[in-house]
Parts: sequence; structure tokens; C-alpha cells
Amino acid sequence: MARTLPEGTRRELYRIYAEVDALLEGASCDASTDCCRFGVTGREPYLTAVEIAELERASRARGGIPKRRRLPVAGERRCAFLSDEGRCWVYDARPFGCRTFFCDRAVLPGRSPRAAIARLTRDLSALAEGFARDAGGARPMSRVFPTGGR
Ligand code: SF4
Repeated sequence: MARTLPEGTRRELYRIYAEVDALLEGASCDASTDCCRFGVTGREPYLTAVEIAELERASRARGGIPKRRRLPVAGERRCAFLSDEGRCWVYDARPFGCRTFFCDRAVLPGRSPRAAIARLTRDLSALAEGFARDAGGARPMSRVFPTGGR
């Protein structure tokens, strides 16, 4: 169980999220939710300690991880927060990796803000380090929140 985020740390996390969202405003997304189906893309977000704590808080606020009406298909690897309706259960709290995921079909409105995203990634790492020095590096989403729900 992750620790609760101090309010200042949480504010800084959402400052980073707001900045990256503004950088990517206008990027196209066909809302296929492929990026939430890790078995489809072969990729998944890696979570820092601050993001884990915030996702746990957001999930608790909604009564826990979404329940599944059907069992996962063999080999299916999808995010534990993807509901059966194809919605992100923790959308406002979704981690940095979800906000910056570029699928093959995504088109950015202008030049790639690669340098600014790299700076925000460093800000996030520093924030996580300050929050939980002993937590180690970022961990894959499916390890922290196992796929399939409960
Ligand atoms: S946290 Fe939300 S946006 Fe990110 S992979 Fe999971 S369901 Fe998709």
C-alpha cells in the first residue's frame, strides 16, 4: 500500500500533469483504448511512487478497481483501470505515461515538445525521489495494479 501524498507533493504532481496536458493539447486520439491494452501495444506506463500513491487514492475514492463482468481472455493484458465500457476509471489521475503515450495513429498539432516532456519527466522523477527515497525506480503498471481487477 502506497503512502498518502502530502498536499504540496500532490499539488506539484498535478502541476506537472497540467503542463504536459497543455503541451499536448490538440493531439489527435481516436479513443480506441489500444494504449490501455498492453497486450496490443506491447507497451505500458511505468509508475513512480507519487503516481502510485495518487492512483491508489483516486481508485479508493471510486470504491476500488473496476469490477469485471467477464474474465480476461487468455493472454489479454489490459490496464486494471480500464472499465468494461472502455473508459479510464481514474482519468483525472491517470499517470504521466498515459498522458504522453503516442500510438501510431496520433498526430501532434505542432512540433514535438520532446525537450519540454523530458524536463517534466525529470521534475516527476525528482518529486518521486523526494516523496519516497527508498521506493526504487518506476515500476510497470501491470505489476503494481495487476490486470484483470477483482
Ligand atoms: S490508467 Fe487509464 S488511461 Fe492509463 S492505461 Fe489505465 S485505463 Fe488507460
